[in-house]
Amino acid sequence: MIKAVRGTRDLLPPETALWNFVEAAVRDVFRAYNFQEIRTPIFESTELFARGVGEETDIVAKEMYTWEDGADPADFAIYKEWMTRNFPEIGSYKNIDPEATGLRQRGLSGPIFLANFSGHYSVIKFKYGPTAQDIGEMIQVGERSKDEGVRPKLHLVTLSGTVHDGVRARAQDAGVKIEELTIENFLRPQFLTLRPENTAGVVRAYIQHDLQQNGLNKLYYIGPQFRRERPQKGRYRQFYQIGAEVIGPPSSGSESPARDAELLEMLATLLDRLGITDWNLELNSVGTPADRAKFNEALRKALDPVKDKMCGDCQRRAVTNPLRVFDCKVPEDQPIIETLPRIIQFLSEDARKHFDAVQEILTKVGVRFSLNDRLVRGLDYYTRTAFEFTHGALGAQNAILGGGRYDGLSEALGGPAAPGIGFAIGEDRLVMSLKETAEGVLRKPDVYVAPMAGMNGEAAKLAHELRRHDLVVELGDDTFRLKKSFEAATKAGAKYILIVGENEVKADAFAVKNLETGEQVQVARGDLAARIRGA
Ligand code: AMP
Repeated sequence: MIKAVRGTRDLLPPETALWNFVEAAVRDVFRAYNFQEIRTPIFESTELFARGVGEETDIVAKEMYTWEDGADPADFAIYKEWMTRNFPEIGSYKNIDPEATGLRQRGLSGPIFLANFSGHYSVIKFKYGPTAQDIGEMIQVGERSKDEGVRPKLHLVTLSGTVHDGVRARAQDAGVKIEELTIENFLRPQFLTLRPENTAGVVRAYIQHDLQQNGLNKLYYIGPQFRRERPQKGRYRQFYQIGAEVIGPPSSGSESPARDAELLEMLATLLDRLGITDWNLELNSVGTPADRAKFNEALRKALDPVKDKMCGDCQRRAVTNPLRVFDCKVPEDQPIIETLPRIIQFLSEDARKHFDAVQEILTKVGVRFSLNDRLVRGLDYYTRTAFEFTHGALGAQNAILGGGRYDGLSEALGGPAAPGIGFAIGEDRLVMSLKETAEGVLRKPDVYVAPMAGMNGEAAKLAHELRRHDLVVELGDDTFRLKKSFEAATKAGAKYILIVGENEVKADAFAVKNLETGEQVQVARGDLAARIRGA
């Protein structure tokens, strides 16, 4: 039996009724706040997420479903070229099958070798568009070989023009030599990624379609997202988000704290409307990019003497992106994290005023919140307001939604200045936390139309008429005996059964039986819809 892939799942009826109920309710709320729907593609170029979400985030570093869209992997083309140049005596590498080498399965990581050239060892990696992770991988392979008594040189072979400055600096620090090839007739590969979140896609669309012309854009989306996380209850590899973005040129008021507060008030309304009342809104400000730079510096300093006592992830974060240390869930690290400086001490006057204004409006409209100065959110592009709604009943994965401001994101993606704020609700978790049951929101058939022998056509005609009156109609089959029709009607949960026989058609009046009370009446064709709906 072929099963759904781990971390994915089928949503089946009747539970899908609950999903529809949620989506209909949120569409209503979005309408009241004048948001409009946007649908972006499910896959985008990998670069969008690398730049829009941040190379150092867990999402980009570990969790994306990425593939190279094209026949011959670029890393392999670089590998072939290098081998052909350096070892012409081995002959042609043109016929090496990339499948056979396992390169394709390795995806973005690219071929890496420990090779011995005339008595000297080198770690050689072939990589198109190398990242900091690639350098890290080379260092690791180098370290491992030291245990075996070799001290290899680190050698990165790449295509010229594909090395970012940051990676070059990292390589230099680590003593990695970069060799940049030019390859004739090289076809630029295209790397594609299943979207792990939707903000980057929305901002890309904003830039591409010049949506700044509309002034303030209020956009919402509903759809699947993909992350290669360890699956557990409430955490899936394909999951669904309902999100919204408020974005526009600064002149449209997109930066105003009024927008932050309105968005948060809308979310409180939305959760209340769904009957989820025991939520918690946690609020923080992560400051402007300049504030964050100062904060990051202070964190780096504070972490330097203690980082060796922390978990592996934190040791890495302490160097690459100290802010992320606050994401750490390892219990032993918490006492250290408690002693670290807090962003609030580094907020500029502007950021502080903005944050105060958001809180003031929320208090005025009666939205309760608590401040959490450890809330830094998983993505790199957040500025100023950051927030999360949690729900007690959800257990470990208790974050039902999160969001924040991303004033510099558009510029980071090469667009115009376009401050914005948005959120993403985990729809899977939202559905889990509903008190409502699918049975409670499912609309069962109003009537089951049961044709007697030879009456399929007449029954279809009648069902067609009733459905036009907005009734939910289940249509039977004229091979069923009456008893079987009654059983089918009961199983479908229909309220009435309507029998279509020759006599009924002639009389243009039908026997309608209430399946709950057993009451049966004869109703003229023209009165059927009203009778079924009304009674
Ligand atoms: P994030 O973009 O990581 O802030 O995610 C926003 C919301 O999406 C979270 O608060 C969760 O409710 C939900 N979410 C994130 N990742 C997953 C996942 N792997 N499975 C289910 N829900 C998720």
